[in-house]
Amino acid sequence: MTAKQIAVAFHGIGHPVRPLEPGEARYWISEDLFLRFLDLVAAHRDPANIRLTFDDANDSDFHIARPALHERGLTGSFFIITSRLDNPGSLSSAQLRTLSERMEIGSHGVDHVDWRGLDPARLEEELAGSKRVLERCVGRAVTVASIPYGRYNARVLAAVRAAGYTTVYSSDGGPSSTTIGLVARTNVRVDTTLHDFAKLIDGVDPVGARLVRRLKAIRRKLV
Ligand SMILES: [Zn+2]
Repeated sequence: MTAKQIAVAFHGIGHPVRPLEPGEARYWISEDLFLRFLDLVAAHRDPANIRLTFDDANDSDFHIARPALHERGLTGSFFIITSRLDNPGSLSSAQLRTLSERMEIGSHGVDHVDWRGLDPARLEEELAGSKRVLERCVGRAVTVASIPYGRYNARVLAAVRAAGYTTVYSSDGGPSSTTIGLVARTNVRVDTTLHDFAKLIDGVDPVGARLVRRLKAIRRKLV
């Protein structure tokens, strides 16, 4: 990735089939809005500079995102919670394999837990264990991960690298400085407007994202 690349994080699209986690509904967007966001990306002067990512292994990755990306000649990175594979509302192993034919596949851990609070064995399982499951499923190396809830500290980043990941995606917002293999993403939320999204992919750092990043930096120093 170049230093100017913009990375966007999508979650669920359309209507959830499984019960949502507390606070998760704000990250689900309508199919109509998602398609209009993708149209903006496809019409962008440099779509290759916009990284589209999808967290949580929702089955909307397969039923909605995959065909919509194909139609527009776009690709995405899909970060999988391995314990959800083959559960209702989540990707099946067969869908994941099909998705992997043209899309990047990465880990979002085993159980969707905050990695900061885990003991070393459990953290190892989240990172190396999920990697093994995914590699077995898609038949190739998996070297990218996204951090559940965007919560990390120096210990988490060291463990991610030790497990063999070369690039890790946060939810810190704004453009990425990628030299250390940590890619900042901006979450798309239910209240993200077309105007917000257009500004985002043009590399205009929204004030909100800047504030969130500063608060996170402060919080990281405290944990
Ligand atoms: Zn997640």
